[in-house]
Formats: sequence, structure tokens, C-alpha cells
Amino acid sequence: MEPNMSTIPEQDRKLRQVISDYTTSDAAAPQVQDLQLKVKAQWEQWNAMYFDGQLVTPMVIFTQPGKPQALGEYSTTSVHGSRGEVRIRPTIPEGRHPLWECNNPKRPIDLPPAPEPTEEQRMRYTIDVALHETVHQWQDEIHGTKAIGHNAKFRDKCNEIGRELGLGPVRGKLRKDSPDTNLPFCGQWPHCVRPEGYYGHLREDHEDPRRTREEYRLIIASLLYGYAVETESLPAVSEANAALRWVAGEIATQALDLMDEAIKRASDYYAGSQHEAASRAPEMAANTPNVPCTSAALPREAAE
Ligand SMILES: [Zn+2]
Repeated sequence: MEPNMSTIPEQDRKLRQVISDYTTSDAAAPQVQDLQLKVKAQWEQWNAMYFDGQLVTPMVIFTQPGKPQALGEYSTTSVHGSRGEVRIRPTIPEGRHPLWECNNPKRPIDLPPAPEPTEEQRMRYTIDVALHETVHQWQDEIHGTKAIGHNAKFRDKCNEIGRELGLGPVRGKLRKDSPDTNLPFCGQWPHCVRPEGYYGHLREDHEDPRRTREEYRLIIASLLYGYAVETESLPAVSEANAALRWVAGEIATQALDLMDEAIKRASDYYAGSQHEAASRAPEMAANTPNVPCTSAALPREAAE
């Protein structure tokens, strides 16, 4: 092993080690310990395999990065004022981030729900954020704070590690760094070179989901009748109302009178006996368009 080149002072090393020991111990809250152990196990491998063991145990926290769009970041100063901190957005390990299609607030409500990421897929994304930030940690600790960025050094390190991982090459930020400008940008490495489906079902682009008034009327009617058939119970009305409120949010005041009308129809519908309601429902549903009516078709709230 080469002599240690790290610029991290001794007191910072001690602080990081204490925090790392604590967050990976039984003293930490179980969900924190679990995440920290997983990230630490990976980081130790990376440090040995790709950085000659030169990096100092990092401070890793699960918190919102400074930039609203960032999934993670490397900060040269930690929240404690010490050197270096890796931040990872907590909605990624939780699977609540809109990077997954199931959390996409623009997903049209007449599409079937997108699958949620599995535990493995959530951790894959989380670990890859940590790997990206570890390359920035290497820039800071070995080459100095001024060396941090998606520059040629960063690109080369990503490509060196990427070759080991069987991943395709990426380009740097500046034109002079990147003869091949068709390559994916290293600022999104390694996510941009992982195979499709590696993290589960990622966000798709949807056209503006606004519909005509008549389309909303039909969707609302389908939801109401679908709930009636499935549940044969009054709570179905409040479920349908929740869907209607969401629709109202989408088309604002235009939906309000439609909502009143739909609620009135739902109330009338449930005024009779439940048996009668259930027996009428299939016939009424037959006159509505073929859209999904299950509870899972209800829109979710946006993750952030
Ligand atoms: Zn970066």
C-alpha cells in the first residue's frame, strides 16, 4: 500500500470513527443502523479495491441535500463543522422518491399503478449514490478541495471503477474532457450506465394529464361504481370522495360542480339497501368506460 496521502486531520478521523461506530452499533435506532451497516460494508470494499485504502471512514448522513434536485452530495464541511460529509436523500432508501414511477405525481390515474421498488432495488440506488459521493470524497481527501467536481479526474476514476463493475464509459463536463460527447455524463454516474430495470421501474415522462370535462365525468363515475361493486359499503363513498378531491385539484374549480353532482349521486346510490345497490351496480358500471376501478388506481400523494 502507498503511504497515506489523506489530508484529513487526526481529530477529524477520530470524530468520524466515533460517529461511524455509533451509527453502526446497536445503540443506534434500528433503521439507521441497518442503512449505515449496508453503506459501510460497501464503502470498505470500495476503499480497499479502488482507492488503495487511502480514504478515511466517512461521515454519512441521510438528509436532504442542499440542492433540491440532488439525490446526494458531498460537502467539504459537515454539519458539525468537521471535514467532509456524504449526504444521501432519505426518500431513496425509503422508496418514496419520485425517481420511481410509482411515486410520479404526473402518472395518469387511468393507468394501472406502477410497481414499487423492492428493498433490493432501493438499496441498489442508495449504494450507487454513496459510490458517486465516495469518488468526490477521494477528490477532496487526496487531491484537495479545489479538485472536486465532475471534471476529467472524476470521469477517469468513474471509468476506472466502471470497468471493474462491467459498466460502460461516461464523459466529463467540459468539451475538452470529452471527445465522445455522446457518452452519458459522469455527473449521473453510475446510475446513468446501469442496465434498464436495475433499480426497478423508473419515472417515465407523461404528457399533461389534463382531460376534458367529459372524460373526468366518466372516470369519476367509474370510480364510484367500481367501489360500490367491490366493497358494498359506505366507506366506499369517502374513498371516492378522496379521488374526487384529487381530480378537483387537477382541474381546479371546473371540477367542483362535477364533484357535488358525483357526491349527490353516490349518496342517492347508497340511500337504498346495500343489496339493492350491489345488484344495480353491474348494470350501471356496464354503461361506463373500461377504466381500472380498484383502490390501487387511486392517485398517491407526491413524495416530496
Ligand atoms: Zn457528483
